[in-house]
Amino acid sequence: MFKAIYLTRDDARFEARVAELDDAQLPTAERAVTIAVQHSTLNYKDGLAITDRSPVVRRWPMVAGIDGAGIVQTTEHPDFAPGDRVILNGYGVGETHWGCLAERARLAGDWLIHCPAALSSHDAMAIGTAGYTAMLSVIALEDAGLTPDAGDVLVTGASGGVGSIAVAVLSKLGFRVVASTGRVDEEAYLEQLGAAEVIDRASLSAPGKPLQKERWAAAVDSVGSHTLVNVCAQLRYGGLVTACGLAQGMDFPGSVAPFILRGITLLGIDSVMASQARRKAAWARLAVDLDRIKLAAITRTIPLEETISTAADLMAGKVRGRVVVDVGA
Ligand code: NDP
Repeated sequence: MFKAIYLTRDDARFEARVAELDDAQLPTAERAVTIAVQHSTLNYKDGLAITDRSPVVRRWPMVAGIDGAGIVQTTEHPDFAPGDRVILNGYGVGETHWGCLAERARLAGDWLIHCPAALSSHDAMAIGTAGYTAMLSVIALEDAGLTPDAGDVLVTGASGGVGSIAVAVLSKLGFRVVASTGRVDEEAYLEQLGAAEVIDRASLSAPGKPLQKERWAAAVDSVGSHTLVNVCAQLRYGGLVTACGLAQGMDFPGSVAPFILRGITLLGIDSVMASQARRKAAWARLAVDLDRIKLAAITRTIPLEETISTAADLMAGKVRGRVVVDVGA
């Protein structure tokens, strides 16, 4: 038997609870690897699923958890052996396939990567999909030619998971980072992470002019909607912005003016179906370019039993940084 965050829907009645499940109930998967999950985490998407705020779950019943880190127990995949430390991010796990907010998970071997030796399973889940997406964003900016001498880099949603790790990584890489947040009382937290300056997100969240004063060489945006549109309008000539999130909204109510008059570039970031090569590259960089002391400072650890109440807090904007779930298997 194993414990899991179990999501059910019967006749439109949704329930999230900690359940005891039988190993025999674990789903099948291609070249399956069964792992003892040591740590999982709460991402924005987990919050949406556990609070039933949006249709993240597309198969019922579901075990929540889009991320997991643990030890291989049994394997049908040649790349993995019992005892290996592995990480799972995305691939629809926790949405269409039973997830990792559970003591046990059976996953397709092709979805897994080995955990970098420098990272513990707790570190890996403190990073989680949020941190790995922040790193995909940083790599996308670098691949497009961004260097620290280009100018200020804006990070929106800065006290959230993606934002906090983007601030920490970019500052370690030598960029001057400006953090945009709705929690201006968190200025000290963001400066401790490496922000050189903190701005109020209200300055970006309302409809604005299509072309505004040129301020940013680049930006990492996890907010979308008017915020992303205003960021585009404030990018310097040739500026770059990554878009990975929709915390303000999924819309993009903007103008082509910054694209056609300032040659800016909007880079889309998807973590869920990113290739194994991109995943491995991002995790290898995280092992080197993310200050572990800063990571610890933004991370809170909770037991599996507190996951459901913490998911509600996350959706209410009451969670700062990252939450690790100590699954304890
Ligand atoms: P968090 O909940 O940890 O952080 C989101 C942050 O966005 C909040 O902390 C807040 O930052 C800001 N925010 C929230 N609501 C609003 C609003 N109405 N207007 C402006 N800002 C707001 O989530 P994550 O960092 O984990 O994820 C952020 C986004 O990225 C989500 O939409 C998520 O779905 C998406 N995402 C996408 C991935 C992909 O593969 N494309 C992967 C991972 C995440 P502050 O308090 O500082 O203002």
